[in-house]
Amino acid sequence: MTFDVETVRADFPILQRQVHGRPLVYLDSAASAQKPRAVIEAMSRAMEHSYANVHRGLHTLANETTDAYEAARRKVAAFIGAGETEIVFTKGGTEAINLVAAGVGAHLQAGDEIIVSEMEHHANIVPWHFLRERLGVVLKWAPVTDEGVLDLEAFQRLLGPRTKVVALTHMSNVLGTINPAQDLARMAHEAGALVLFDGCQAIVHKPIDVKAIDADFYVFSGHKLYGPTGIGILYGKAERLAALPPYQGGGEMIGEVSQDRITYADPPHRFEAGTPPILEAIGLGAAIDWLAGQDRLAAAEHEHRLYERVRDGLSGLNWLKVIGEAPHKGAILSFTVDGAHAHDVAQILDRYGVAVRAGTHCAEPLMKRFGVTSSARASFALYNTEDEADAFVEALTKAQAFFA
Ligand code: PLP
Repeated sequence: MTFDVETVRADFPILQRQVHGRPLVYLDSAASAQKPRAVIEAMSRAMEHSYANVHRGLHTLANETTDAYEAARRKVAAFIGAGETEIVFTKGGTEAINLVAAGVGAHLQAGDEIIVSEMEHHANIVPWHFLRERLGVVLKWAPVTDEGVLDLEAFQRLLGPRTKVVALTHMSNVLGTINPAQDLARMAHEAGALVLFDGCQAIVHKPIDVKAIDADFYVFSGHKLYGPTGIGILYGKAERLAALPPYQGGGEMIGEVSQDRITYADPPHRFEAGTPPILEAIGLGAAIDWLAGQDRLAAAEHEHRLYERVRDGLSGLNWLKVIGEAPHKGAILSFTVDGAHAHDVAQILDRYGVAVRAGTHCAEPLMKRFGVTSSARASFALYNTEDEADAFVEALTKAQAFFA
């Protein structure tokens, strides 16, 4: 398998676009990635040719759609080394974490401890805060070093007999830091805790094997993985999912319902109440098929080269502060520009056709940790080019002149 960025780009119709009369330079893939034609066509094809509700029909279209939906589940399972019944479709990474928190919460009591880190996205903070508010569980925060690395010794010290859950990001959406998931899982398990990884960013940039990591739960969303919005994945070890109560009630998640008694379906259907994201699951399956045709290792190396190129292009500038310089990190560059609000930086870059994100990145505790109220973020995907990296450096240098 070879990796050729121009061949990759040809699969993404939107990359032909111009913005403000300039070629689009899309550096916001960590927020949401663009979609290859294979995904767009798979979803259109389903709507044009074979669409009905799943699981409940006896006619041809219902059967075909159910087959496509369940085939998507098998693709996801194979993609991360899981069993088919260990994959729950949700509406996003956020919902997947909420589902776990609500379910695990049923087994927790006041004084039990949950460890998160300072580099979490709000999606992996707020659901645990709910348990703090509702049950009186204690949230403990694993610190991050100035470089943007999770402090493993401090994390180890937080673990104790009352630790019930460890919920950590596998890769920070702000710092780019990739955390040592396998080591973290081992440490959490030695303390008798369950471990959940937020893989929304990591899954995009590296092959994931949930069994090798030994995660109890691993979550991610489809739209960052070149798939559609409205679909997320909760992986849970079979025995962990079996121990969770239902999340939402409705059709398809039951065993039997009568006036005074109810039983529930086994996982994964127990957690998929109502009509699920059918087209989105099919689209995610197509994204995974498309990714299977790429040399993912070469793609990650390519992304990293772009990051290094930008980093070199911006080195030595006294008006720029980079947040997150972990030795082991993905291709995400978060930064502040002296004298400028990140929103203004992003807006000026947009005039040059360069799309970056700016704000708190749904990571307010991390912003506070680094003493900033916001930052700008350029995130690189496998379809970005060296010319785009250079265009970003040039546009940023011009943008800075507005604030100098
Ligand atoms: N976790 C991380 C690390 C993220 O970057 C994001 C999205 O930015 C999420 C969770 C939430 O994902 P979603 O909005 O797709 O539910």
